Amino acid sequence: MRPPIKMTALDIAALVRSRERSASEVVEEHLARIAAHDSAIGAFLTVDEDGARAAAARVDDSVRQGSDPGSLAGVPVAIKDVLCTEGLRTTCASRILEDYVPPYTATAVSRLTAAGAVVIGKTNMDEFAMGSSTENSAFFPCHNPWDPDRVTGGSSGGSAAAVAAGFAPLAVGTDTGGSVRQPASLCGVVGMKPTYGRVSRYGLIAFASSLDQCGPFARTVPDAAACFRAMAGHDPADSTSIPSEVQDVMAGLDDGVAGLRIGLVREFATEGVQKEVSDALASAADSLAGAGAGVTEVSVPSALYGLPAYYVINPAECSSNLARYDGVRQGLRVPGRTYLEMSGATRDHGFGPEVKRRIMLGTYALSAGYYDAYYGKAQRVRTLLIRDFEKAYEECDVLLAPTSPTTAFRLGEKAADPLSMYLSDIFTIPSNLAGAPAISVPVGLDGQGLPIGVQVLAPVLGEAVMFRTARVLEALANFTQEPPL
Ligand code: GLN
Repeated sequence: MRPPIKMTALDIAALVRSRERSASEVVEEHLARIAAHDSAIGAFLTVDEDGARAAAARVDDSVRQGSDPGSLAGVPVAIKDVLCTEGLRTTCASRILEDYVPPYTATAVSRLTAAGAVVIGKTNMDEFAMGSSTENSAFFPCHNPWDPDRVTGGSSGGSAAAVAAGFAPLAVGTDTGGSVRQPASLCGVVGMKPTYGRVSRYGLIAFASSLDQCGPFARTVPDAAACFRAMAGHDPADSTSIPSEVQDVMAGLDDGVAGLRIGLVREFATEGVQKEVSDALASAADSLAGAGAGVTEVSVPSALYGLPAYYVINPAECSSNLARYDGVRQGLRVPGRTYLEMSGATRDHGFGPEVKRRIMLGTYALSAGYYDAYYGKAQRVRTLLIRDFEKAYEECDVLLAPTSPTTAFRLGEKAADPLSMYLSDIFTIPSNLAGAPAISVPVGLDGQGLPIGVQVLAPVLGEAVMFRTARVLEALANFTQEPPL
């Protein structure tokens, strides 16, 4: 049996609801573990000891009074520092928001606390969620619990590391172009991106609004499903939120894959994939076939064009969203004699190199004369990709793919080469462009003892079949190894 600190979220909630454990006890254990180990990992930008203790006490009070605090009663949850939390500093790991304390809480977070979850702190990330390694944090990089010389992936590296290290059984990240799934894969945990619009973006600080979506990290697929279920649903405060009812993803979780049609994306069998990663994918496919699924190859012809299209659309939206940090309305202000001098100095001082690169790329892609050649073309590729996926889903219920082309790389290894960093996202980005859900499940370790993840992709609003397949994959892979912490 796993030591108590590594219990699943659902087990913790069950014990807290039945009064076998108190939420306060659970929170203290996790705070102690963070205090003992996070200096070597750097998963948290802010640990909210007081807030977590008070929230846990409220959960215990309500249990004592005989009312049910909810499906995630007393479960510590770590929140990526891009989601607003009222009264709790929210930095986006950027100097420009270093002292920002939001006056309101993101819907995704308030839904979790309404279900009884206890926010334990805010996690490290790439600045404004731009990156694939959490080295772009303006404060400090995050280290992989499996090997502190390696990256956690990104941009939600702090959330992935927090779950892997046992600092919290659940965490929330955001996945604009793979930023939940890729770090989940590199840290050996489950990470999921919902259908665009399924989880509210209200209070999620915008990066690329047509792609941003927050999703859960967990140690198991049922925990991820439970966290998703708590966060999902229509929110009138987000105009892109989907009004339809959320499918009950817990109900059919154990229905198995017999009779499901699973597709292996032909175009993803490409160069540059670590052999152990493609081997793990092949054995995942074999084991799913052994469990009764029909596994075939399927073509998504434009799949590999997702990456270049994303790196036009994403900077374009980013340059427009980040225009608001002008030193006037919120965040940092560096004084200057004129408005232009002040806002120029503020942005120069407040933004790191990757953020500046995106703003410049995006501004260029949107400029008169280039708009159609770059932004227009990328949008057409996006439409093509959506259609290609729709076609593939006429033949298949879900698709199977690698999550990341390689396991965790070394800190500093790709920092000087943005293109090779961008390539980390080649298999995750297509789902973001298509607005479709996908999940990464840990399936094993490579020769160096580093975790490997496999992705299950599903059509828009196909969360139930996605979780169901992932559940089987998880059971068959039986990944029980722990990082050496
Ligand atoms: N690595 C991608 C990027 O830098 C992912 C971003 C994300 O999903 N937040 O854009």
